[in-house]
Amino acid sequence: MHKGEGYNFNKVWQAGNAPHFESLSGDIETDVLIIGGGLTGLLCAYKLNNARIPYILVEKGGICQGITQNTTAKITFQHGLIYDKLIRKFGVEKARLYLEANCTSLERYREICKNVDCDFEERDLFIYSTKNLSKLEKEVSALEKIGQQAQLVKDIPLPLSVCGAVKVSSQAQFNPLKFAAHISKGLNILENTKVLEIGKRGARTERGIIHAEKIIVATHFPIINKHGGYFLKMYQHRSYVIALKGASLPYGMYVDEDENDLSFRNYKELLLLGGMGHRTGKKGGGFDSLASLVKKLYPQSKEVYRFATQDCMTLDGMPYIGQYGKNTPNLYVATGFNKWGMSSAMVAANILCDMMLKKDNPYISVFSPSRNMLHPKLLVNALEASINLITPTVPRCPHMGCALKFNKEEGTWDCPCHGSRFSPDGTLLDGPSTDDKRPLGKRQRT
Ligand SMILES: Cc1cc2nc3c(=O)[nH]c(=O)nc-3n(C[C@H](O)[C@H](O)[C@H](O)COP(=O)(O)OP(=O)(O)OC[C@H]3O[C@@H](n4cnc5c(N)ncnc54)[C@H](O)[C@@H]3O)c2cc1C
Repeated sequence: MHKGEGYNFNKVWQAGNAPHFESLSGDIETDVLIIGGGLTGLLCAYKLNNARIPYILVEKGGICQGITQNTTAKITFQHGLIYDKLIRKFGVEKARLYLEANCTSLERYREICKNVDCDFEERDLFIYSTKNLSKLEKEVSALEKIGQQAQLVKDIPLPLSVCGAVKVSSQAQFNPLKFAAHISKGLNILENTKVLEIGKRGARTERGIIHAEKIIVATHFPIINKHGGYFLKMYQHRSYVIALKGASLPYGMYVDEDENDLSFRNYKELLLLGGMGHRTGKKGGGFDSLASLVKKLYPQSKEVYRFATQDCMTLDGMPYIGQYGKNTPNLYVATGFNKWGMSSAMVAANILCDMMLKKDNPYISVFSPSRNMLHPKLLVNALEASINLITPTVPRCPHMGCALKFNKEEGTWDCPCHGSRFSPDGTLLDGPSTDDKRPLGKRQRT
């Protein structure tokens, strides 16, 4: 297996005949500017298009070439054992609203996918634990409290010894790129148009200025530092996926609640086994550990692809969807999906479209990015940033100047503070940095 420079080994998701879009040429004007053509930006555009609100989506490369192309694409409202935690932190009503928003999202996918060739399949989802039955029991009763049926089962059809699993029925899996290719047809999209700077009434790109009343930042990690404090209230977590042929295929989707964060689903004849994650820029996990596990669990199987990607993790397990900062009335964001971005992207599109229409939406306060953020993880993030800011090595990250760490397994330079990644020649692979790496560590302006 090759290693190095931002390799993408993922050939699992193929879009078929994905549409291509022009680039911006010269200045233009619109009502809503969406920045970022991953699943989140595309679903926002799809909703605005249906609501007949004038909008333009700009993507710095091609659509769905960011995190979305390397997802494992399970669509569910059961984001790990989350509801017991949400009830304890936010109370029964907010937990119920979180569930409802994600159930609506799953329902919406079901409707759209009826007419789309995107390998959408209903599957039950199991969150299992190898050692903590009481966590599973608590989750089942939390789900009952908010009106959702779930079952505690003893066994699951994986070559693992578990103490039980929470089973929720009729969730789904699909091919995200086929889905994205379908919904993006006919939308107002400009590709190869990178936003360099965001102002009060628009954005400057490499190819002209876009004047807009409202702006939605759907760039995965938000690219503006001076509002919202996302660099403090979020970090990125990197995970690994190996696609196997010849492994016994589970009929269902399985997620590990213990430390390795494993997930299992099939896509056609392939088993996608993910996990062994770690904070981006820090040591731990990786392809080697995942490959060792594969040998143990599926000795007869053959590895056909491997890929890695990362997602933004929030302080309290709830995404940040809504007004970007307290004092930015026309600037919006959707981020922090905690590795559950399929359903969350749809939730974001529903909320943000209603906000554009000035319509009430019961979920606005639940996902508000300005909610109370006093949380021990805030200190961990601040400490991580402080240590890496004073570490006296080069190269530095152009985002905020943290010392980059070399990731031997993938041959990249990764930022432990906020998760930006660069190839050995300095090309930007993952944000929030918007610039390539410069050896002398000059900072970018945002
Ligand atoms: C290993 C792994 C497995 C996962 N599996 C699942 C799963 O099973 N189910 C699930 O629900 N979620 C899953 N997720 C999470 C999910 O994949 C992500 O949350 C989701 O894909 C994020 O989509 P996005 O549109 O927000 O980001 P992206 O897809 O990264 O889109 C952001 C876009 O913005 C563009 N952009 C950035 N900066 C600029 C700029 N300055 N100008 C113009 N464009 C710009 C980028 O090029 C990019 O295309 C998983 C995540 C990981 C890490």
